[in-house]
Amino acid sequence: MRPAPAIATDHTRPLVRLRPGAGRRLKAGYPWAFSNEIAMRPDMRALPPGGLIRLEGDDGVRFGTCFYNPRSLIAARRLDADPEAEIDTGWFSLRLAEAASLRQRFFPTPFCRLVHAEADRLPGLIIDRFGPFVVLEANTAGMDRLLSEITAALEALLPLQGLLARNDSPARRLEGLGEEIRLLFGAIPDGLSVVEGGVSFPVDPTHGQKTGWYYDQRESRDRVAALARGARLLDVFCHTGGFGLRAAAAGAARVVLVDSSSAALALAEKAAERNGLRAEFVRADAFAAMAELASRGEQFDIVVCDPPPFIPTRRDQAAGLRGYERMARLAAALVAPGGFLFAASCSHHAAPESFAEAVARGLARAARGGRIVHAGGAGPDHPTHPHLPESAYLKTMLIQLF
Ligand code: SAH
Repeated sequence: MRPAPAIATDHTRPLVRLRPGAGRRLKAGYPWAFSNEIAMRPDMRALPPGGLIRLEGDDGVRFGTCFYNPRSLIAARRLDADPEAEIDTGWFSLRLAEAASLRQRFFPTPFCRLVHAEADRLPGLIIDRFGPFVVLEANTAGMDRLLSEITAALEALLPLQGLLARNDSPARRLEGLGEEIRLLFGAIPDGLSVVEGGVSFPVDPTHGQKTGWYYDQRESRDRVAALARGARLLDVFCHTGGFGLRAAAAGAARVVLVDSSSAALALAEKAAERNGLRAEFVRADAFAAMAELASRGEQFDIVVCDPPPFIPTRRDQAAGLRGYERMARLAAALVAPGGFLFAASCSHHAAPESFAEAVARGLARAARGGRIVHAGGAGPDHPTHPHLPESAYLKTMLIQLF
């Protein structure tokens, strides 16, 4: 244990106070303070973005150690209840070990999301693990400043062979951070793979989308694969073929994969070849492809729609929800009676009810009824913070259509 400071003025960590009354949510467990809740002093504007502070209420209640970013709307993010906590390699080692031990209880192999930001008490840090190869996103200025401590902690915890920073997420702009893709340790080999449901998928974390693989849909892919024997399946927004090829391996009669990215489709083709699976690959806009298939009178037993976020910012709410409605309408028209529509939204800004309503409107416009068989989200490697319901960004629905 560290000795307590001899006198209160020993503090080197700057003290930031909340405005009167602004501590209510933090007292209840909320992990953030917004810039308009901070009692601003001129010297605070000079604090480095992502530096460590002690946060206190105007009543002297201590909220512990936080990241502080004067450039962000989310001004303070809680790291540790102890206002003097050393946020060093040892601190990260403990947090990462806790995160890893949760995942070990759910997954037999170390292929999963290892850290999911605030829920794992690591604000803004995302880490996906591919065995000894690891890809992170530092989406807060605080995490960005501590990359060497994070790297050292991962090195201590894992048999780490490669660590890549995929710091090109738009979330970084909100923290005043630029985009970069940088190798932090070892090497990321070209031939990386994820095996899911017995199917081996090539993964390209350096050039691919996000960290290279969407671990968040693992359980949805299991659920769709379980329905796939003998089925005709259409997977629009297929990325590297996760849903479609899992279905092909489960005995689907026909699999059509559509994506607008030729790089994603090239990996899907490679996966199909490697696993001896048959599929049709179509590079097209998903909406245009669905309209075209409908005009030819094509029918499928399962249609999978797992698009990119249609609501990237709060302002895009109305247009985005119309996008989900249109997607559901076009997809529903292709589902044979008794078949299934799987629809997903990964937009933080779409509340689950709004997404469900948009899908319902789409079904109505396609003159289809149905029953929701399952509604859910990401798997247990994507835990959410109890006070940040919007961090449950992924919404999924499996609907049987009449
Ligand atoms: N279901 C996939 C993940 C989908 S990610 C999996 O399990 O791995 C969303 C995909 O939509 C990306 O691959 C992206 O290239 C694709 N995409 C984005 N806009 C599109 C469009 N208009 N038409 C078709 N595909 C699109």
